[in-house]
Amino acid sequence: MTRLNVEAMQDEPQRKYHKRKRPDTPLEKQRAKTWTAFSRFIRLRDCLQATGTIYRGKCCTCGKEYPIGKLQAGHFMPGRMDSVLFDEDQAHAQCYRCNVLLSGMWPAYYRFMEERHGKETIDVMIQEWFDAARKRDMTEPQLRSWQVYYEREAERLQRQRSVSDDSRSIAK
Ligand SMILES: [Zn+2]
Repeated sequence: MTRLNVEAMQDEPQRKYHKRKRPDTPLEKQRAKTWTAFSRFIRLRDCLQATGTIYRGKCCTCGKEYPIGKLQAGHFMPGRMDSVLFDEDQAHAQCYRCNVLLSGMWPAYYRFMEERHGKETIDVMIQEWFDAARKRDMTEPQLRSWQVYYEREAERLQRQRSVSDDSRSIAK
């Protein structure tokens, strides 16, 4: 094997690792923090809805049950603009296979959205997506306030759950 080939092989894993752009600017760093908070809120919300616990939920497209750590916040509409990225109605708990390997599993996601939000809401989302009305990026302070909001909402969901867990155990 030539040295060139060895170097090419050594480069390979690193290229894959860096495929996703790392947050560099303050805005990108803030967006990553907001995303962490938003994703946690979405998964907690959907786990509670699916199983009544904050530990397990169901993938919105294949319906399989997973621990919350194995679920992602998957999007209905494509695009990574903040206005779409952080839209609660367009993000739901989804497994890695459906979200990433099957590119969102669009036909099943459409069915799910029809049942959950109704066709009229979907039509508005699609129209707005075409109009670019919602395809906006947010400023750093806006993203920061969303991060705080979703952290509080996630805490609220967890608190609610532990309170009702307590009352259930008392009732027994
Ligand atoms: Zn799935």
